[in-house]
Amino acid sequence: MQLYSTQHQSPDVSLEEAIFRGLPPDNGLYMPTSIPKLPRTFWDTIENLTLQEIAFEIAHALIGDDVPADDLKELVNKAIDFPAPLVAIEDDTYCLELFHGPSMAFKDFGARFMAALMSYFLQKSAQQIHILVATSGDTGGAVAQGFYQTPNIDVTILYPSGKVSDIQEKQLTTLGENVSALEVEGTFDDCQKLVKQAFLDKELTAQFSLASANSINIARLIPQAFYYVNAYAQLKKKGLANEIVISVPSGNFGNLSAGIMAWRMGMPVKQFIAATNVNKVVPEYLQSGIYQPISPSLSTISNAMDVGNPSNFPRMQALFDNDLEQMQKMLTGYFYTDTETRTAMRVVYERTGYVMCPHTAVAYLGLKDYTQTLENPVTGVFLSTAHYAKFLDVVEEVIGEQAIPERLSALLDKEKQATKISTDYEEFKQTIIAAFSKA
Ligand SMILES: *Cc1c(COP(=O)(O)O)cnc(C)c1O
Repeated sequence: MQLYSTQHQSPDVSLEEAIFRGLPPDNGLYMPTSIPKLPRTFWDTIENLTLQEIAFEIAHALIGDDVPADDLKELVNKAIDFPAPLVAIEDDTYCLELFHGPSMAFKDFGARFMAALMSYFLQKSAQQIHILVATSGDTGGAVAQGFYQTPNIDVTILYPSGKVSDIQEKQLTTLGENVSALEVEGTFDDCQKLVKQAFLDKELTAQFSLASANSINIARLIPQAFYYVNAYAQLKKKGLANEIVISVPSGNFGNLSAGIMAWRMGMPVKQFIAATNVNKVVPEYLQSGIYQPISPSLSTISNAMDVGNPSNFPRMQALFDNDLEQMQKMLTGYFYTDTETRTAMRVVYERTGYVMCPHTAVAYLGLKDYTQTLENPVTGVFLSTAHYAKFLDVVEEVIGEQAIPERLSALLDKEKQATKISTDYEEFKQTIIAAFSKA
């Protein structure tokens, strides 16, 4: 597999180099130099394949010989060990549930696959690496769970004290072993600053191999294509694979980029919906052709999508050959306020009994608004990116009932283990050096 930078100012690299570098030196994003189409026979018989089998075929087509087929099969089976079911909600309306992994958000697909790939390459070289991540919530949980007990890798997660939800904090701080949490007395920006400074610290990087688990890593994008194609397989099994519309709740647009990649690989899709909250940069771009970042981003109840300048946008452009008209043909944008989001959560719950997290509700709204504009019925799929219980405050307020599932009350009972630090860089540095030296 060969990857290029979307800025075209740095050399092509192998998969191994792309995943350990994260970002190309010219600050572009790595993209595959070619996106292969899967053969006709694959699509024609896809309903007979499992999610893991589909995942292998896609990964193999993209990755090629960088990971031998037998190793790749093992790696995929280890990383993708939870389902992604398609659940009927209303007539012609299906929810693709992506929250059945360990952190209960779709980011588990990316984090677990990246962990397995990194670990695979490191085993060959018997090297130890140290991952540093700053999180405002969801990413940290998926990375912690994804790298938990992974050989040759330890993870240090920095999170802002008092600024993540109880469930999110417990997901970061109760694992132990190769995962440690630093509770920073500051903001998410302070956490990010400490991590950035560590990567620039020559003394530190001379002694230890540091890596990031950034959301723009190509290893996180590839596995997100798996569940789109698996959704297609599930629809085909039901005889519903003719006119498919897929609505994706979006923030940094990694998820939607992966969907477009699946389409480029040959998956039949009529239309994608880019559904956002009031951080509506992309819906506006699709309307006007003007790309205007929002800074600072606006706070909403779908806070994992509070992104004012989506980092994967250049990938979306690349997938449409940097052609706005091509993009507009396949992609329609909608954005929603918190009031509209809450109303959708309540109405769907009252009508069907199905509870959606706020992000999922945004995708539901986008799907409904788009299908209303059509004369003929289509099969609509909206992506559920997190389990509703991760956003319990909003959910309980909207549906007016206690909604905590058993699996989470067990998590909340576990004991938190975190080291409190200030925003002082030297204190942070001494803390991680002590921890790394033990590892
Ligand atoms: C990260 C996240 C999103 C946004 O996904 P992108 O790939 O950044 O567009 C949506 N919903 C939830 C629950 C998330 O955690």
